[in-house]
Amino acid sequence: MKFQIQEMDGWARTGTVSVNGKLLKSPCIFLGHSFNRGNPLPWHYFNVDSLLINAYDILVQKIDVTRVRQILDFDGVLMMDSGGYQIQRFNRNIDLKTIIHIQEMSKPDIAIPLDYPLTPEMNSKEIHTHLTKTFRSNKYWMESFPYNSIPVIHGYKEKQLIDQINKLGSPDFLAIGSFVPILMYSDRKRLVDLLINVRKRYPDTFIHFFGVSYLVAFLLFLLGADSVDTSAHLHNARYGSIHLQHTGPRAIAFNTKKRKRPSAHKVIEKDKFLNESCGCPICHYLEFDNLKVRGVRGLQLRGIHNAWVYTTAPIELRQKIKEKKTAAFVETIFSQSGLHYLYKYAKRNYLT
Ligand SMILES: [Zn+2]
Repeated sequence: MKFQIQEMDGWARTGTVSVNGKLLKSPCIFLGHSFNRGNPLPWHYFNVDSLLINAYDILVQKIDVTRVRQILDFDGVLMMDSGGYQIQRFNRNIDLKTIIHIQEMSKPDIAIPLDYPLTPEMNSKEIHTHLTKTFRSNKYWMESFPYNSIPVIHGYKEKQLIDQINKLGSPDFLAIGSFVPILMYSDRKRLVDLLINVRKRYPDTFIHFFGVSYLVAFLLFLLGADSVDTSAHLHNARYGSIHLQHTGPRAIAFNTKKRKRPSAHKVIEKDKFLNESCGCPICHYLEFDNLKVRGVRGLQLRGIHNAWVYTTAPIELRQKIKEKKTAAFVETIFSQSGLHYLYKYAKRNYLT
């Protein structure tokens, strides 16, 4: 597995990852997929370059590990996370060997070692235990996993992150777990500082960020992230929300679970949406009201539409990087968002 930077525009960069004879352009978004009933397969409708699945999901959904490739019918770059976050959340006892077995049998292009995420409530002793276990796991994958894998690190402090990277011998590829979603909730400016500081120290390393939402992805790419993954397209579809280009999700339908309350997102302005003329196959072939449908069909239609909006983002960004207009482009997007202050913070400190 190799990464080559191609063009730079400030901190933002385009590049190419070559893995298993496939070429993946960066920045890129790995679309999250779970084998949960009813989830759509957007890559059957349009081109999706990169997909993220997880070993824990395969285990609980009782998917035949030898048939994962066949079931997905996906020929882009397939990354497989361990599902460490879910394993921890549901307090399951699953060992390294079980995860490695699932990953070896289902043959993703890139595997992520079993990790032990941090949560904001942890004390320093617990943090130390989790970082140590994640480090051991990374080492185990480096030594025993026969295919491509990317070590994963955790931390909310610069020193925690830098120490882990150095202990791993400054790898060419790095995945940073649970850092974005947690800092987005508690300390967004620190997120910007940490990303820039890691980037300054390791300018050539390919860095992936786990669990990122649509608008935040633009900001991370502007600040030098190479790839992110998201399942927000599915999550929002399930809760009756759709994405518009360059804005956060908007509520359109009652959620498909049996709750009385519609999605908490701002309600969509139908006219604005129709004027935008989305290029996805759902909006192209079907009437707008189909996006409001309840049940599995609604989930699928919104999920495919949302996936389209997500997959077009890195394509636009790569073009802007080439034209050296990335900052102006991201500034326009953030100027209409509640996160404008975060963009301004990044600009004031790192973009001038
Ligand atoms: Zn659409």
